[in-house]
Amino acid sequence: MDCAARGTGTPCTGPATRRCGHCGAVAYCSLSHQISDWNNHKEECSRLEQQMRHADILHDFPFTYSTDATLQVSAKQMTRCSFLATRGLRHIGLWKYECGCHHPIASSEYLRINDDWNLPSALCPCTEPRDPVPINLSDWKDYYQWRCLPLHSPVALLLHWPLTIYQSIQLSATRRSSLEVNGTLHIHYLGPEKELLQLAVFGELHALFPHLEVHIELIGPAVPQFRDGERINLCNYAHCLDLDCTCKSSSENRSWGVSNSNATKVTLRLRKGYYHDCYRDIVKDSFPDIIVASNAGIAAYSDWLPTIELIRERDVPAIFSDFCEEAAHLAARCITAVTGRPLTVPIQVNPFRQPMAVEDTVLYLPSYSNCFLFGM
Ligand SMILES: [Zn+2]
Ligand SMILES: [Zn+2]
Ligand SMILES: [Zn+2]
Ligand SMILES: [Zn+2]
Ligand SMILES: [Zn+2]
Repeated sequence: MDCAARGTGTPCTGPATRRCGHCGAVAYCSLSHQISDWNNHKEECSRLEQQMRHADILHDFPFTYSTDATLQVSAKQMTRCSFLATRGLRHIGLWKYECGCHHPIASSEYLRINDDWNLPSALCPCTEPRDPVPINLSDWKDYYQWRCLPLHSPVALLLHWPLTIYQSIQLSATRRSSLEVNGTLHIHYLGPEKELLQLAVFGELHALFPHLEVHIELIGPAVPQFRDGERINLCNYAHCLDLDCTCKSSSENRSWGVSNSNATKVTLRLRKGYYHDCYRDIVKDSFPDIIVASNAGIAAYSDWLPTIELIRERDVPAIFSDFCEEAAHLAARCITAVTGRPLTVPIQVNPFRQPMAVEDTVLYLPSYSNCFLFGM
């Protein structure tokens, strides 16, 4: 972690090992940097102190591996890479980019949609659900129970992407009745990054919204130029390891219903650029029912401001997520400054946040992918 006063005056004198005694969320290289930063830090210190008190809630997951994936990873006693290695999931299949060892990513890596869980069928959702989806899945425990998964299955580490979309739809005022009439759920998904290398997990949206066709426009500057405009049809769930499982049957669509076997239920389209620049083009064939922006970092990137103005004008429900509570707080400030009214969905913990801590955070705050949700 960097010294919180880095770059503001005299050069740092060493590693940032002195934590603020009040909040514990920031650290300094020296007493003199701590003193010189106080004028900046005093505005946030008691807020950060409060946020640090929420750590127990944020680290709380029902999984058998929760302690390893949360406390051990955030205390650097274990890395994401070693966590995956002990489960035989290091650098393979859908897990390949989960640890962050592969940056920068070669463009050839994008050429194939990886759809292998590399897990036995009992540990991953590779076929249709046995029971219809309950009216409301409230947390990972509900989801695992419905999908008949044991609590040692690691799939939540990747399924936080589609489940965060699910939660966003539950939270927003997306009019279910109008969806049922149209039959298609249009999602505009802003700022995708790592999920571009894990797209097969979005197939799970078919299990979550079985009566709808789901179309997602993924728009952001991280979409590689040569993938701009690419369409992807997800016609099945990601596969398990079992050779005799029905997810491998020659007709790949079998698991998604015989009645209309060549209908694709989840379609994706990739767009390179900022939402406010390509919006007019996109809405020609996909008007959004909801806008979702994962791990948005609104306060950190000024490019979000014209996008937020556009969303306000169009009056489409939009849900954002971020890694830590402070990022959500600063984002909410930016949004309300543009809209002039309070958030329609107040800042709250996402029950479907990724159950593995983020490494190398800017603050000592507990930090997870898709950790907090809020909306306008
Ligand atoms: Zn310093
Ligand atoms: Zn402090
Ligand atoms: Zn690795
Ligand atoms: Zn396949
Ligand atoms: Zn299978």
